[in-house]
Amino acid sequence: MSVNRIDLVRSSFEKKAGEYEAMDKKVSEIFGELVFDRAKMRKYLDTKTFNSLLDCIDNGNALDRQTADAVACGIKEWALEHGVTHVTHWFQPLTDGTAEKHETLIDYDGKGGVIERFDGSSLVQQEPDASSFPNGGIRATFEARGYTAWDPTSPVFIQEDTLCIPTIFVSYTGEALDYKTPLKRALKAVCDAALPICKLFDPKVTKVYSYLGWEQEYFLVDEALYASRTDLMITGRTLFGHMSSKNQQLDDHYFGAIPSRVAAFMRDLEFAAFRLGIPVKTRHNEVAPNQFELAPIFGEANLANDQNQILMNLMDTIARKHSFVVLLHEKPFDGINGSGKHNNWSLGTDTGTGLLAPGKDARGNLQFIILLVNSLAAVQKHNALLKASIVSASNEHRLGGNEAPPSIVSAFLGRTMTEVLRKLLELPSGTPVEIAGKKGKRVGLVEIPEILLDNTDRNRTSPFAFTGNRFEFRAVGSSANCAGALTVLNAAVADQLTSYKAALDAELASGKPFDVAVMDSLKPVIASIIDVVCFDGNGYSAEWVKEAARRGLDTRTCVPELIASYASPSSVELFERTGVFTTRELEARNEVKWDTYSKKVQIESLVMARMAINHIIPAALEYKSRLLKGIKYNLDVFGNLDGCKSERILVESISALVEDIRVKVDAMQSARTAAKEASDSYSRAMAYSAIVADLRELRKPIDRLEELVDNRIWPLPKYRELLFIS
Ligand code: ADP
Ligand code: MG
Repeated sequence: MSVNRIDLVRSSFEKKAGEYEAMDKKVSEIFGELVFDRAKMRKYLDTKTFNSLLDCIDNGNALDRQTADAVACGIKEWALEHGVTHVTHWFQPLTDGTAEKHETLIDYDGKGGVIERFDGSSLVQQEPDASSFPNGGIRATFEARGYTAWDPTSPVFIQEDTLCIPTIFVSYTGEALDYKTPLKRALKAVCDAALPICKLFDPKVTKVYSYLGWEQEYFLVDEALYASRTDLMITGRTLFGHMSSKNQQLDDHYFGAIPSRVAAFMRDLEFAAFRLGIPVKTRHNEVAPNQFELAPIFGEANLANDQNQILMNLMDTIARKHSFVVLLHEKPFDGINGSGKHNNWSLGTDTGTGLLAPGKDARGNLQFIILLVNSLAAVQKHNALLKASIVSASNEHRLGGNEAPPSIVSAFLGRTMTEVLRKLLELPSGTPVEIAGKKGKRVGLVEIPEILLDNTDRNRTSPFAFTGNRFEFRAVGSSANCAGALTVLNAAVADQLTSYKAALDAELASGKPFDVAVMDSLKPVIASIIDVVCFDGNGYSAEWVKEAARRGLDTRTCVPELIASYASPSSVELFERTGVFTTRELEARNEVKWDTYSKKVQIESLVMARMAINHIIPAALEYKSRLLKGIKYNLDVFGNLDGCKSERILVESISALVEDIRVKVDAMQSARTAAKEASDSYSRAMAYSAIVADLRELRKPIDRLEELVDNRIWPLPKYRELLFIS
């Protein structure tokens, strides 16, 4: 029985169409209404509690039990007004996505009835019985306790009937079991490291923030088609599928008109995001058919990352209401663009200075150059580690492709800034760095044109590109938790800034004037990076791979091997110095990563083998037998085979392809059995990484069969349906 694919789509769409409700209020009126933000704090808390909570959020001072109770009381009042019945600690374990364990707010009132209760202790800490989350051996069963603890810097929010409290997730012994804890440690490290430098330029600065502006790419596919593709449902990507004749060659989808059904989904999604205080800003069609992007206004990294996590969940639920499924996988379809999540990253002070943007004057520019150059040095020094922070079983299929960031982490600086840095190396230290056009004084100056933001040429092939006031880390995967990349990036920059500050202090101690000391300590750093990590050329070219290796950049692509760089001596030192990870945490995390990688490849291999045997081969054999019947009738009627040459060739091709599939499925099974027996997680992951190539090989005869077999018999939705129905 063939799947009547179009009917499937029609029925599912008609069922749900028209549910979209128009937004009848201004965005500014609904923005943040489901978030216990500062305005709500002011309204629902007394002044003393409000001030203590702000002191806790802004200055990291602990809340005493009494204040926590008062905060909980205010939150409860607000939540009940929104019909909330449940509460959960909301955290980010080392799985894909977030975790929650809902509890109702009720408690016995001692008079035979119940009341709503929510106090400081339920706000501050919980012990979810969450022993099944990956922990890499940190939580042996006898100490299986894991604690969630409130993160007051990310506001409490409401989803449906549930009050969600953003929390970190740590073991009984205090080790991080999640993404948020190390991110917060790295954000503190970069603040601590950058602050003493910034204070030299402006004593009023008391805090340095790390900012994140993510750009979330995704695909939409029709829910009914999705449900009939086991591979999409179970692994998030198509394991086979012949490219449709038209894909993205014409670039007609990119920035094109948004189809109305998709636009309805986007409006619903934005509406929900606004209510949760997520400042979504841009939406557009991406390069591949049915691929889209959404980006907010950037914000403080920890909060922005929480918002991205919330948004990924929202996308999923809201898409279902529109009979779509969102694909966040980095490479759901072969042969067309995959999806990333560019992480726009910068640092800024609490006095409002963007540290990766040119300053207002020569002094400000000097500060900018310190931050810029040391960020680049960090990317160079921890080159393999930075790549390790973005690799995964799913991002593996995207990276290094011709339309995706290359698998070498170099940095694009742009002509202007490259020239500025080269000139700085030549000129005497102390030469003022001016913005052209502002002072009109040109002789002996190193100039940064005012229009830097617009004139950094857009290099799309660089994984880490300077774009005028920030770096854009483009290698991050669409399904990833941004915290993975941001933890490493901020830790690496923090460490580099600390060592730079020591060099600067030494120059200052020798009595040099400030500007001269800055330049003298900066020049060796510039000289060490300008012809190594900085690369403005074509990141896709084969020559670049050779050149990058010559420069000492990391050119490896094997995921389990890259993961191991978290535990390399330079990484261990980096994380210990910055206080971001202990060795035990690093080892445990690597275990989790290798394990997750192995399991994902194992699942893909199992799904593909089963689909090949249960879906593909039967369809091919059915068609073959039909062809054979035709040949036999031909012989019966005409007494010869002259009239059925094509059928005979087809039968032979099908037989050969079916045989090829069978042999490859068997070989893959043996490889899986061998991989399973590997003695440790690393060698197991290495064995599974070889199976990734087997999957690619098995795909070939299947895709060829799709071209040959009668369309009416083919049991699965094809690329042209998955990609063009919206
Ligand atoms: P493009 O696709 O051209 O890169 P987008 O507008 O889609 O641009 O995304 C740019 C992202 O960068 C947005 O999330 C934006 O808020 C963010 N961004 C802008 N300036 C900064 C900054 N200084 N620090 C961090 N993120 C920033
Ligand atoms: Mg971008």
